Formats: sequence, structure tokens, C-alpha cells
Amino acid sequence: MSERAAQWTASTLADVRADGWMCGTQWDFFFLYHDVLVMAYACTACPEQALGHLRVERTERVPVRAADVPVAFGDVDLFGYPINELSEVLDPSDRKLLLPASANLQSTNYLSAVSFDACDGERRTPPHPTYGN
Ligand SMILES: [Zn+2]
Repeated sequence: MSERAAQWTASTLADVRADGWMCGTQWDFFFLYHDVLVMAYACTACPEQALGHLRVERTERVPVRAADVPVAFGDVDLFGYPINELSEVLDPSDRKLLLPASANLQSTNYLSAVSFDACDGERRTPPHPTYGN
């Protein structure tokens, strides 16, 4: 998906912010939807400058309740259940993909962020953009 197509799709949900700049990206933008921040970008290794990375974050640093909106992965709402319940229903490979290595699988807190990478070029966490309320 191109930058333009990704922004167009995102704009059906929220106001897209594309005036920031993240080091090491060909393009990037983000939007805030209720209490969920979505960052989309193409790193310098993404083929044809296509969308290769999505990072979805809660605006609460240590979420202790479900997000206001579902973030679906298959039939699981990733921000709708505490980590200990998520770890029970996710397949081991999905658990490895979605949960940070440092995640405490017994935690009753909720996930604070997930990343989806279609591109293998870069799997680092991008810098956090600033956003208003
Ligand atoms: Zn990439």
C-alpha cells in the first residue's frame, strides 16, 4: 500500500498527521483514534516505498483497563484483555509476534503497544511523535 493509499484509508477514521518526521523513514504519519495512537511508516528498506510498518499504542503508559476501541488480531481484541488472559488465547507464534519479549505473561495490566511489520528491514521501535489532546 502506498503512502497516499494508507493516508486515505486512515483518514476515514481520524485526522492524519503527516507533518512530523522520523529518522530512518521514507515517509510516516500517525493518527489518534480515541485512546489509541497508530503510526504508519515505510523504513528505508521497505520495497517501493510501500507501507511496511504499523505501530499501535495506547495513550496510557501502563493501561489498567481495556482500550476505548478494539484493536483486532484475528478474533482477539489485543487491547481488550489483560496480558495474562491474552497469553492464554494467543497461539505461541502469535504470542512471540505480538508480545514484547519483556512482557510478564502473568500481568493483569493491558498491552501498551503492538507492532506489525511486513518488512524485515527494520524492527526497531520508532521514536515517539508528539500529539495533542
Ligand atoms: Zn521497512
